[in-house]
Amino acid sequence: MPKLNETHDPQRRSWHAAANDAGTDFPIQNLPFGVFRRRGSDEVPRGGVAIGDAILDLASVHRAKLFEGKAAEAVAAASDTTLNRLMGLGAAHWSALRLAVSRLLAAGGADEAERRRLGQPCLVWMQDAELLLGAAVGDYTDFYASIFHATNVGKQLRPDNPLLPNYKWIPIGYHGRGSSLVVSGTKIRRPSGQLKLPDQDAPMVAPCRMLDYELEMGFFVGPGNGLGTTLTLDEAADRIFGFCLLNDWSARDIQAWEYAPLGPFLAKSLGTTLSPWIVTAEALAPFRAPSATRPAGDPQPLPYLTSARDAAEGGLDVILEAYLRTAQMQAENAAPHRLSRGNAQTVYWTVAQMLTHHASNGCNLNPGDLLGTGTISGPDKESWGSLIELTFRGRERIELPTGETRGFIEDGDEILFRARCERPGHVAIGFGECRGIVTPTA
Ligand code: MN
Repeated sequence: MPKLNETHDPQRRSWHAAANDAGTDFPIQNLPFGVFRRRGSDEVPRGGVAIGDAILDLASVHRAKLFEGKAAEAVAAASDTTLNRLMGLGAAHWSALRLAVSRLLAAGGADEAERRRLGQPCLVWMQDAELLLGAAVGDYTDFYASIFHATNVGKQLRPDNPLLPNYKWIPIGYHGRGSSLVVSGTKIRRPSGQLKLPDQDAPMVAPCRMLDYELEMGFFVGPGNGLGTTLTLDEAADRIFGFCLLNDWSARDIQAWEYAPLGPFLAKSLGTTLSPWIVTAEALAPFRAPSATRPAGDPQPLPYLTSARDAAEGGLDVILEAYLRTAQMQAENAAPHRLSRGNAQTVYWTVAQMLTHHASNGCNLNPGDLLGTGTISGPDKESWGSLIELTFRGRERIELPTGETRGFIEDGDEILFRARCERPGHVAIGFGECRGIVTPTA
């Protein structure tokens, strides 16, 4: 884990005043990376850093030669149309760039007016920007790391034996699709597929009737590992660039028919939504937590999945929320209805364990590869991160303030995720939004 340094100083303020507003997701202590261009323009996309209600255009910073050394090398890489090259540079470069950006944007000191004169022309209003995916994701893998989610879903399939015997030994995952990853705001079309109804002998092809969301965190691999090589747990922790919110849209009825024996396939690749801002591992340093406590009687992880450091700080204290806005609520301009509120700290496997396990057979991971945690559900119903859990597979419908009810997602519904880190003695940081509206089957 990156050490705490001046970029985490809770006293630090920015000369860009909106970054100092209580409640902003993007104070100067956050500085998440994304890719953007001005909305409606034919500009070349480039990297940026969110600061309050604005974006620091890293290509402008690069052109103006505002940084030196590793920070200059990193800002040159971040001027690309994706952040893959920045991710590949590694933690020393990421940290140098974060420090240089923090110093450029910081209020106070004798040279504040000069830094402001240099930095101000590099700011773009976020409301004028189109946000894009931060990386060209070559490979995407989704895990199943919440034991509460795995148990809740397992109970619906196997009431007497919800967890399969490998669960507490292996971080379970499946290979997802990079091609259908989309940025927040992209519409998601309801898939059509093979469904087999319980009272029918044969499947039919029809629009999905059990469309669901999964509240997850995604994390991007920085320098990876070569084919045939592996990563220790502590190496893996240092190679994670940063985190975003991830909605693993899931067609439960398609999934139920197709998943045996090889796991999810078309139920998942219909689209996966990512929040545009990538909160760096360094920004999250004040919000690390011990890895989740294993109940007495659970096996300890095998040696390659164990380290003192990971046990002490492998967890993430991130509050995660899912909201629903139906078409009617959107038309009435009603506030989104909160479906759940949980915390990533409850996840059974740490992100470093997921990455180490992924590389443990010599599978190469590359800069910009994306890993998902799997649905993050906690022990209490309030914190369950999918509708299949909250509604017991649609049997107990959720009542909304409009009088509408939902078992699964209906056409026109918007699903919205938010996340924040809050701890005494630190400035709270947020992830921005991860949203998507479902449109009817073509
Ligand atoms: Mn998932």
